Amino acid sequence: MVPRGWFLPVTPGTKFVSVGGAIANDIHGKNHHRSGTFGCHVTCFELLRSNGQRLTCSPDQNSELFRATIGGLGLTGIILWAEFRLKPIINPYIDMDHIRFSSLDEFFEISAASDQDFEYTMSWVDLFIGGQNLCRGIFMRGNHNQSQALASKPIKKRLPLALPFNLPTFALNTITVKAFNELYYHAQRRKRVHKTVPYDPFFYPLDSIHNWYRMYGKRGFLQYQFVIPFDHAREAMSEILGRIRHAGEGSFLTVLKKFGDIPSPGMLSFPRPGLTLALDFAYSGQKTLQFLNELDKIVIQTGGAIYPAKDARMSAQSFQTFYPQWKQFAQHIDPHFSSSFWRRVTTPQINPNRSTEAAALSRHSQSP
Ligand SMILES: Cc1cc2nc3c(=O)[nH]c(=O)nc-3n(C[C@H](O)[C@H](O)[C@H](O)COP(=O)(O)OP(=O)(O)OC[C@H]3O[C@@H](n4cnc5c(N)ncnc54)[C@H](O)[C@@H]3O)c2cc1C
Repeated sequence: MVPRGWFLPVTPGTKFVSVGGAIANDIHGKNHHRSGTFGCHVTCFELLRSNGQRLTCSPDQNSELFRATIGGLGLTGIILWAEFRLKPIINPYIDMDHIRFSSLDEFFEISAASDQDFEYTMSWVDLFIGGQNLCRGIFMRGNHNQSQALASKPIKKRLPLALPFNLPTFALNTITVKAFNELYYHAQRRKRVHKTVPYDPFFYPLDSIHNWYRMYGKRGFLQYQFVIPFDHAREAMSEILGRIRHAGEGSFLTVLKKFGDIPSPGMLSFPRPGLTLALDFAYSGQKTLQFLNELDKIVIQTGGAIYPAKDARMSAQSFQTFYPQWKQFAQHIDPHFSSSFWRRVTTPQINPNRSTEAAALSRHSQSP
């Protein structure tokens, strides 16, 4: 659609997602403060239920099922087709600024100054700086370029890099993450850099490295994304970042963003006004699971939530606190549909000493 002058209303940090997946997780992008979630732009879809019924869902037709399916984690039926609004663009380029910031307070300042004039904003963050500043990073903001002259300028295709094998587990540790952060932060010498770039590297930088997850080694990683309401943002961030440093956990890719106040249309949608942080932790078994349970407690205290799309371990208790509307949602689940996620977050744990993961895996293997 880009060569025809149209762009997605909301796009995540990877282009390898389907429309069904974008609806089922009610995904958000760098423009959440301006455009809300993907679901805000969906006007209609058809849902196939396990009894063979095909239901057209929209804000006016089967409206409760429409709200349950947006952010409904694939549990209400199969989306066969969907209709959603695109937005017009003049060319496929983005005018982009990279601005270095040296504290969380400076992040808030740049963010406040950018929300009005920039459609897209997000930040890469280095958590290891510590002290009063809490973090440092690079604030990225952008708008669609408006020049007709660029409409016919061809985009140079770059061949993607690929990680051909898993890196050894020891390759990613606090020291290597600190070294990477230092290099990345200082690679930009000036406070602010302005460039016009094709949309692809602006929105999807990780897609240019195929199999990038192999850098976490054979045991892989867990992504942890939370949102905390603005009222508690500074103190909760201070607590969470302190815990991460204390635990010696190095998040290689950390992304910080402000969610705006456009209501999400789905019953179980994750985005809500506040500060959202996405972290990647190399997986080291029980140690990582226990550590993330501790972070959950802080998120619960603030009235925030964890993003189910990125989750592989949250407990039933955490989920039901983050999403108290889950019982209302459950009425719309297709009677023949389930998932290991849903069983984990709705079945109280039999033995609290067993890991969430082990309990979920064993439940999964028992029920087809
Ligand atoms: C590098 C990277 C960056 C990301 N950045 C972001 C981001 O910025 N913002 C964000 O919100 N998310 C982000 N994500 C998460 C991603 O956008 C979501 O997980 C998305 O839902 C994946 O879509 P998919 O098509 O791959 O679906 P899958 O992963 O295959 O499935 C996701 C869910 O959608 C359901 N589903 C899929 N198709 C259908 C269908 N036809 N009918 C009903 N249910 C269906 C599945 O059952 C499942 O519950 C990122 C992921 C990666 C790997």
